[in-house]
Amino acid sequence: MTNDLCDVAVVGGGPAGLVAALLARSHGVSVTLIAPKAPPRDERTVAMLGASVDVLKQTGVWPALEPKAAPLRTMRIVDATRRLIRAPLVEFHAYEVEREAFGYNIPNAILIAALDEAIEQAGIERVSGFASEILPADDAVTVVMADGGQVRAKLLGAADGRRSKAREASGLSVRSWSYPQAALVANIAHSLPHDDVSTEFHTETGPFTIVPMPGLRSAIVCVESPAEAERLSKLDDEALAAEFERRSRSIVGKITIVGSRQVFPLSGQTARHFAARRIALIGEAAHVFPPIGAQGLNLGLRDAAAFAAVVGGHRDDPGSAEAIAAYDRARAGDILSRTTAVDALNRTLLTDFLPVQALRGIGLFAIDRLPKLKRLVMRQGLTPHL
Ligand SMILES: Cc1cc2nc3c(=O)[nH]c(=O)nc-3n(C[C@H](O)[C@H](O)[C@H](O)COP(=O)(O)OP(=O)(O)OC[C@H]3O[C@@H](n4cnc5c(N)ncnc54)[C@H](O)[C@@H]3O)c2cc1C
Repeated sequence: MTNDLCDVAVVGGGPAGLVAALLARSHGVSVTLIAPKAPPRDERTVAMLGASVDVLKQTGVWPALEPKAAPLRTMRIVDATRRLIRAPLVEFHAYEVEREAFGYNIPNAILIAALDEAIEQAGIERVSGFASEILPADDAVTVVMADGGQVRAKLLGAADGRRSKAREASGLSVRSWSYPQAALVANIAHSLPHDDVSTEFHTETGPFTIVPMPGLRSAIVCVESPAEAERLSKLDDEALAAEFERRSRSIVGKITIVGSRQVFPLSGQTARHFAARRIALIGEAAHVFPPIGAQGLNLGLRDAAAFAAVVGGHRDDPGSAEAIAAYDRARAGDILSRTTAVDALNRTLLTDFLPVQALRGIGLFAIDRLPKLKRLVMRQGLTPHL
């Protein structure tokens, strides 16, 4: 660890922080990563859509990930509610927007291991441990480690997750809310091929999603009421597999559970601004979503790319007032629009209000019947800036 002033420090070794550090380093500035090594074993997968794959390619880790990632060539939405007004089944095909795939589903642990290795090779100093105090000042931010060591940087990337200490130090406030839902997450093996199709069954309690993994495997994200998610998580493997088979209408045949399950209570959070006092918010430090439509980390990687672009454009002082304002401007629209869209989609599923159900049904019907609208929606899902 050094007391020298570095250009950029990033606190947090989740995927958003690792990518931010790597991309910032590619602009030739000095970068320190403050992150404890060996995160707890995570059996979740993340669907990396469109531009996120391009961002991962820029970090150089894509060749290591590609053989372990499953392409998502079709996204299917099934209205599995028992409501009066139901939406039609809609399928989005990547070839309709001249793409090989909408994106790739990647195990979190494999993504993080590949990024960790790239950090080592990129000449980024890694300080392993938790930041205990973060002190912004006019000319630099000082990060004090639990062992008393210090890191000083002109710009600090706050990628230390939803309860970010760095965000607190920046003085940026957040708006937080919760949903009456929890996500049960598990991996499955199945007897029929998924054909690279990700299927989202929309139910009254939230989506039940099957996301392809390589071979005859998939990841399940089952959004339910907290009590039901808890009940399901306590079933034995056979009973849970039977429940998943019923909910998936057996589209992937006989199911067996692979590995363990996890339950995540669903909540949302978004900062009102995204940078202040030489600190820029990245990933879940800036925004937390319910896992609907696979948006969370995709947005986090766009934060990382914008962070690096600001560093590249302000090499002399990447934490200057101008740089800080540029980052806030660059991220505000994208984060606000995604947060609103995901929140609205989730709430239309939960509502019993008939006109809202009708609007949702008509919206999906229109998307299905109007090829131009459908392509627009697909492109929006892929590349927000088109
Ligand atoms: C069930 C579920 C499914 C999901 N599926 C998808 C999907 O398909 N696609 C998608 O894009 N997103 C998905 N997401 C969202 C995605 O998982 C998150 O957006 C992503 O993991 C957040 O990454 P991050 O790097 O911002 O934060 P985190 O992964 O939370 O990383 C924060 C890091 O900071 C470290 N840290 C905290 N405090 C300190 C400190 N004081 N000092 C040093 N380090 C510190 C932590 O140890 C941690 O390693 C899903 C989320 C859930 C819950």
